[in-house]
Amino acid sequence: MSASSPTNNIIDGKTISTALKARVAAEVARLKAEHGLTPGLAVVLVGNDPASEVYVRNKGIATREAGMNSYEFKLPAETSEADVLAKVRELNADPAVHGFLVQFPVPDQISQQAVIDAIDPAKDADGLHPLNAGRLASGLPAMVPATPEGCLIMAKIAAGGELAGKHAVIIGRSNLVGKPVAQLLLRENCTVTIAHSRSRDLAGLARQADILVAAVGRPNMVKGDWVKPGAIVIDVGINRVPAPEKGEGKTRLVGDVAFDEAAKVAGAITPVPGGVGLMTVACLMRNTVIAACRQNGIALPADF
Ligand code: NAP
Repeated sequence: MSASSPTNNIIDGKTISTALKARVAAEVARLKAEHGLTPGLAVVLVGNDPASEVYVRNKGIATREAGMNSYEFKLPAETSEADVLAKVRELNADPAVHGFLVQFPVPDQISQQAVIDAIDPAKDADGLHPLNAGRLASGLPAMVPATPEGCLIMAKIAAGGELAGKHAVIIGRSNLVGKPVAQLLLRENCTVTIAHSRSRDLAGLARQADILVAAVGRPNMVKGDWVKPGAIVIDVGINRVPAPEKGEGKTRLVGDVAFDEAAKVAGAITPVPGGVGLMTVACLMRNTVIAACRQNGIALPADF
């Protein structure tokens, strides 16, 4: 962010995610004290993708910090699909594991969809199983993907709690982000437009948005003049770009939104890093508690 950028309209992922993680930890303490239940989250990593290794490590740290049990399974890159599916079935059957995920991407010999389909929907911490996607689309209780849930929480806070009637434009339609974000905003009574690589006049569509969500994976694609003055901008993108100013061969992370330009126009905007990414881990922790409670017939506070 440049020195001239406004700073009073930043949606601070650090503050919001810290508060959510504290809430999760308090709920875990209550579950232990009142029910003797310690929620458990397992993560399966196949291969040695460096970014995935960082994500998995961070998830383990956050799980333990919340007071939950963390289980990590590292499988070699050459593991067969059959062996990954066997691990999934093992975790489906393990009563100490209330939620789990297989870190994506997986090596080419393994079908991502076959892995998703094999996960017990009740333990589907990432909310990717078709049953959970269908339940979300039907307005039924579901395991909700963590990143979209994080986007919703941030948008709601930025809007002062009420999203009804706002026009939300989501750029991106992946099963992981774009589609579930759209469903969540629809559930909040937004008018929802989903844009994608075949949409016409993306800038014109974006300019109609009271809430603009960018989940594309193209650095700085959304320009300042794509943003309606006062709009809430949620930048999901995580893109690594060269940063010669930091030294030869160095890189830095940027979002899908040209932050400095957009921040001058937006009413509120999430930074990258320090925005949605932090919420993803916090929402994953929350999902694990929700899964543990549902599996044990324990009611959660309505505002959890
Ligand atoms: P994805 O599966 O690759 O989907 C990208 C979407 O963007 C697709 O729907 C694609 O359209 C659309 N798109 C691509 N080029 C476009 C263009 N020029 N104009 C308009 N739309 C375009 O990616 P994803 O998994 O949703 O992730 C999106 C971004 O979010 C990535 O940068 C990823 O790293 C990041 N991410 C961040 C978090 C987090 O925790 N913050 C979590 C997950 C993902 P088509 O469908 O037409 O191809």
